[in-house]
Amino acid sequence: MVEELNFKQELVGVFGKPVAENPTQVMVEAAFHHHQLDWRYLTLEVDPADLGDAVRGARAMGFRGFNCTIPHKVAVIEHLDGLGESASTMGAVNCVVNRDGQFIGENTDGKGFVVALKDIIDLSNKSFVLFGAGGAARAIGVEVALAGATSITIVNRSEKRGRELVELLNAGTSARADYVKWEGEFSIPEGTDVVVNATSIGLFPDIDAVLAFDIDSLSPEMVVADVIPNPPRTRFVRDAETAGCKVIDGLGMLVNQGIIGIEYWTGVTPDPMVMRAALEKVFGN
Ligand code: NDP
Repeated sequence: MVEELNFKQELVGVFGKPVAENPTQVMVEAAFHHHQLDWRYLTLEVDPADLGDAVRGARAMGFRGFNCTIPHKVAVIEHLDGLGESASTMGAVNCVVNRDGQFIGENTDGKGFVVALKDIIDLSNKSFVLFGAGGAARAIGVEVALAGATSITIVNRSEKRGRELVELLNAGTSARADYVKWEGEFSIPEGTDVVVNATSIGLFPDIDAVLAFDIDSLSPEMVVADVIPNPPRTRFVRDAETAGCKVIDGLGMLVNQGIIGIEYWTGVTPDPMVMRAALEKVFGN
């Protein structure tokens, strides 16, 4: 059943492609409901050609902010009044916050990841292997570097994207990044602290797709993280658990980036359990 909006409700939302059931909307509205916040999170289909008008519309309608998904994460920047530090370094925005009438672009993807990771490991002086060089890898790479990681190895199929991310990290952060072309099974170097799948391998419906790496190169001291929220228990997550590693699944990152967005918009820190339970209803656990 669609609930009617009423005029006293505060509005946030997401500008992106149409989806039948948007997990982020389900998660954020569960938090609003739990904390008795009279707010609504709307899923709004915005064509790339209409993005500027959509942002002007959000201003005119007093939106308190909005998320941006693909394909708007970079294009939205020219319509905003300013950027937070990491959004500026990575050149991509997934969360816009209305601060005293100014629309400021932030990036919560990597911040959510770092919060989930910091629960189990202190990031200072840590070395990372990051599979992928797309939007999620970029957000994670920048944010873990800003949080104190010293070494980041980018393993990516496309050399161009891999090298671009390495250049961005070396130029914009104090971490040392290097690129390895992903051919055949990658072997995790000894001494690696954190291994991250930031590719789309394992995402529904291709849940049996295999991340090409040598499982025997994982050791129990390593922390392993997967960005895939659907399904949360990917093959990579299961392999890492079998190897005795501590593991973070993609729901942890999604919940934490949702928490940060709600904090930015409302000033309230929502209950993570309520949000995770809402996501598990959508994705299963
Ligand atoms: P992009 O399309 O920007 O990047 C995809 C990445 O995956 C690229 O590095 C690409 O490599 C790699 N890749 C895809 N298929 C293969 C393959 N078969 N073999 C090797 N590499 C492959 O996507 P995003 O970075 O935006 O998103 C990636 C994933 O992150 C998505 O599944 C998304 O669901 C998830 N995500 C999760 C979030 C969360 O909160 N949990 C938040 C944001 C994203 P190449 O460059 O060679 O094409």
